[in-house]
Amino acid sequence: MPIDATLPYDDGNIFARILRGEIPARRVYEDDFALAFHDIAPQAPVHVLVIPKGRYVSWDDFASAASEAEIAGFVRAVATVARDLGLVPPGYRLLANVGGDGGQEVPHLHVHLFGGRSLGRMVAG
Ligand code: 5GP
Repeated sequence: MPIDATLPYDDGNIFARILRGEIPARRVYEDDFALAFHDIAPQAPVHVLVIPKGRYVSWDDFASAASEAEIAGFVRAVATVARDLGLVPPGYRLLANVGGDGGQEVPHLHVHLFGGRSLGRMVAG
């Protein structure tokens, strides 16, 4: 079920639990600002989720409430993950779902990083 991205942060959400190490994940990268791990239901040969370490529900929440250091750190981490996975070239796609119409299901900001094949054009369905 898509979430209401205006709700307060829920410390019990699944990505908060992955961050705390309570639930396993196939981690690919971690630094002071971000954690990256493989999506449990991949939709491309490479499908990695990159999340900030701070308590932010969505891109909207993060952009308005995070510090400059957190924003810079997260953006750099996403690019580093893609580079480390060997996706620059051939190229990749970033996607952040926000709220109901965006189809966001987990209420902790995450960027989907897709790659490993030609991804076609933009939005389907
Ligand atoms: P959203 O729709 O919120 O943008 O995407 C949530 C993503 O999280 C989905 O692609 C889903 O497969 C992934 N996901 C949900 N639960 C887990 C989990 O427990 N572990 C991992 N690695 N991914 C998850």
